Amino acid sequence: VEEGAFRVVVVGAGFGGYYAARTLCRKLDESEASITLVSDSDGMLYQPLLPDVAVGAIDPRAANVPLNSTLRRASVVRGRATGVDLEVRAVDVASPSGPLTIPYDYLLLAPGGVTRTFDIPGLAEHAIGFKTTAEALYLRERVLARIEAANASDSPPAAPINFIVVGAGYAGTELAAQMSRLTDHLLPTFPNVGEVRWLLIDHSQSVMPELGHWLGERAVTLLRRRGVDVRHQTSIARIDGGAVELTDGTVIQDATVIWCAGVAANPLISTLGLPVTKGRLVVSPTLDVPDHPSLFAVGDAAAVPDASQPAAAGAICPPTAQHAMRQGPAAARNIIARIRGRDLRAYRHRDLGLVVDLGGAGAVAKPLGIPLSGWPAKAVTRGYHVYALPTARRRLTALTGWALAGRRPDDVSFGLLDLEQALAARSEHSL
Ligand SMILES: Cc1cc2nc3c(=O)[nH]c(=O)nc-3n(C[C@H](O)[C@H](O)[C@H](O)COP(=O)(O)OP(=O)(O)OC[C@H]3O[C@@H](n4cnc5c(N)ncnc54)[C@H](O)[C@@H]3O)c2cc1C
Repeated sequence: VEEGAFRVVVVGAGFGGYYAARTLCRKLDESEASITLVSDSDGMLYQPLLPDVAVGAIDPRAANVPLNSTLRRASVVRGRATGVDLEVRAVDVASPSGPLTIPYDYLLLAPGGVTRTFDIPGLAEHAIGFKTTAEALYLRERVLARIEAANASDSPPAAPINFIVVGAGYAGTELAAQMSRLTDHLLPTFPNVGEVRWLLIDHSQSVMPELGHWLGERAVTLLRRRGVDVRHQTSIARIDGGAVELTDGTVIQDATVIWCAGVAANPLISTLGLPVTKGRLVVSPTLDVPDHPSLFAVGDAAAVPDASQPAAAGAICPPTAQHAMRQGPAAARNIIARIRGRDLRAYRHRDLGLVVDLGGAGAVAKPLGIPLSGWPAKAVTRGYHVYALPTARRRLTALTGWALAGRRPDDVSFGLLDLEQALAARSEHSL
C-alpha cells in the first residue's frame, strides 16, 4: 500500500462485489487507494446460468468469471469474512492458510444471501441446494448416476426415479423445466429405465408470481406438457433416506430433493449488531450505513431503498442480480466520491423485468412489463444473458454451448463431487 493511500476492502465477489471491484479498479489510481477483494471462491458466479450448467448446455467456466485475471489491480484474498470490528475498522477472515485481519478505511459488504432452509426432518442431511456451481454439477451427476444404475438392472421395468424440486420461483421453475427435458432426451439411450419423474412443488398458489398470472400459467402448461407434476400448496413433510413424504400425504420412494425455496440473509450481517430489515443490512439511498460513513453494503445482503417506488411505501429492492450488479458500481462510485470529498449519489434503478429460460424453445419473459413467451421470450432471455455476462470469452463460450447443445444433450459425468458438497444446508458454508 502506498503511503497515504486509502484501503478499500470489498467482501464477496458475486454480482455486487465483483462489479464494485471492477469499477474501483478502473477509476481509482494506485496512489489514491489499495483495493482488496475477500472472496470464498476464485470466480464470480453468474447464478442465472446454473440450470444451463446442470443440464450440461454450457461449460461451468462460462458461468464463472475468474477474479485474479480480470481484476488485476485488486488483491484477491481467498477466504471467508467472519466478522467486522467497526471500531478498529478491520475485517476478520478465515482463510485456507489460517485467520487473517484486514484493516480498511472503506468497507463494502456484498456477501449475498444463503439458501433458506427450514427445520424439516431429514432436510439438512439429504436435500441438495441450487445456488453454487458444486450443487449444479452434483445434481447433474446424481441424475446421470441414478439413470445409469437403473439401466444396469436386468429386471425391467424398474421403479420410477423421482426428483422433487421445492420452490416454484424462477430458479426452481427453470431447473424443473430444463432437467425434465434433459432426462426425456436421455431416456431412449437407456432402455432398461422405466420412468424418470419430476415434481415441482411450492406452498403458494402459483408459479413465479413475480411474472404475473398469464406468464405463470404459460410456464405451468409447458411444464405439464413435459410431464412435470406441478403441485401448489404443497411442501416437504420429511425426508427419510430416499423416501420423501409431502405435506399432502403422498409418500414418494427413491426421490432426490432439490431445495430452491428462497434466500435468507447472509449470517455475516447479523454479527455486525447493526439495524436490519428481513435480515438485510439497512443502508441509506446512497448505499452507506447510517452513522457509519466507512461502511457500505449492496446486493442480497443489503436492504436498499427502492427509489422507483413511492418513498412512503418503504419498499426495498428485490434480491436480484439485476439490482446487485448496478448497486455494486453505484457504491464504488460513492466510495470514490467520499475519498475525493465529493457528494454521494442515491441509487436508483427501474426494474427491467425478468427472463426465464425453460429449455428448448421454451421461455417466458417480462421485459419492461411486456409479457412474452416462446421464441420472442427466448431471444430476449439469451440476449440479456449474453449482454450481462462479463468478458467476451464467457459470452462466446455460452453462445457456442447453446448452439451445440441442440436436442442431443451430453450424458457424461465425472463423479468428482460428493453429497456433502451439495447439501443445501452446508454447501455455502464451506471454503
Ligand atoms: C439458480 C438461480 C437463478 C437466478 N436467476 C436470476 C435471474 O434470472 N435474474 C436475476 O436478476 N437474479 C437471478 N438470481 C438471483 C441473483 O443471482 C442474486 O440476486 C445475486 O447473485 C445477488 O448478488 P449478490 O452480489 O448480492 O450476491 P451473490 O451473487 O450471491 O454473491 C455473494 C458472494 O459472496 C460470497 N460470500 C458469502 N459470504 C461470504 C463471506 N462471509 N466472505 C467472503 N465471501 C462471501 C459468496 O460465496 C458469493 O460468491 C438467480 C439466483 C439463482 C440461485
